[in-house]
Amino acid sequence: MAQIIDGRLLAQKIEEQIRQEVGKMGIKPGLAIILVGNDPASQIYVDSKERACHRVGFYFEEILLPREIGQEKLIEIIKLLNENPNFHGILVQLPLPGHIDEIRVLSAINPKKDVDGFHFSNLGRILVTKRNTPDDALIPATAKAILLLLESTGVPIEGKKAVVLGRSNIVGKPVALLLLQKNATIEICHSKTQNIAAECLSADILIAAIGKPLFVTKEMVKEGTIVIDVGINRIEDKFDPRGYHIVGDVDFENVKNKASFITPVPGGVGPMTIVMLLENTLRIVKNPDIV
Ligand code: NAP
Repeated sequence: MAQIIDGRLLAQKIEEQIRQEVGKMGIKPGLAIILVGNDPASQIYVDSKERACHRVGFYFEEILLPREIGQEKLIEIIKLLNENPNFHGILVQLPLPGHIDEIRVLSAINPKKDVDGFHFSNLGRILVTKRNTPDDALIPATAKAILLLLESTGVPIEGKKAVVLGRSNIVGKPVALLLLQKNATIEICHSKTQNIAAECLSADILIAAIGKPLFVTKEMVKEGTIVIDVGINRIEDKFDPRGYHIVGDVDFENVKNKASFITPVPGGVGPMTIVMLLENTLRIVKNPDIV
């Protein structure tokens, strides 16, 4: 039976350290989040980031823009935020509406304020680095969260076979690179991977980040694997007041009987991702020339 990695508890501990550090600072770290459109799931994520900012004493502003906004107008707004000294960090909540080129928009953020670490220069720094986690990059929050959750188990990453399900720019690829820096042997799987179950069975560390509810079953996990579930999927549930409940990409109830460690959903990667965002903002305040 697996030990459950309590992401909420770990996040609370780190958040408390951040709160204390901010209390001793002469300035208030500032975070601006741009939200385009009124997607309810995105609004929930932004709200929880806002609450976290308030808890640790950050200045927070949400810039809510209409869904129809043009790309150039959005980039103009980002450029104004780049120049605004009240904001140390800028984040554009994803996904953006289809008519907007996400990569162009993310590239408009000043890399020194890129708290999500999605600007290609920050992503590039993870690629072009020495064999340790780079201190001179803003690392995408979810990837960093996954690494800390793994490290919290006390099991060395070095030499392990890590299988990453998903190759997105914001989760799969960056976490694979971070694990490579930690001397794991990496395999990245995606929608065109053949016999994914066999690949998963070879993993000592399995990271599931595909957005497919309960995709990873117990038959896909070998005894003793460390399983990190990144997925956040809504399942219709007429007994839940919200009309849905959240599950991960892993069939937690069954996989937990085979894994050595496992993260729950909710309560695993999610809370740690938010606290890593706070940490990135604080790193910028302490070192404005971080990149
Ligand atoms: P994404 O951009 O949609 O990428 C999904 C990846 O999964 C793609 O690489 C895709 O392959 C792969 N994939 C999809 N179906 C697959 C299948 N049946 N077999 C194998 N691979 C498959 O998603 P994302 O932004 O990385 O997010 C992934 C999940 O993590 C989502 O549920 C998201 O909500 C969640 N998430 C959670 C946090 C958190 O803080 N907990 C943060 C970010 C994301 P192709 O490249 O071939 O299409």
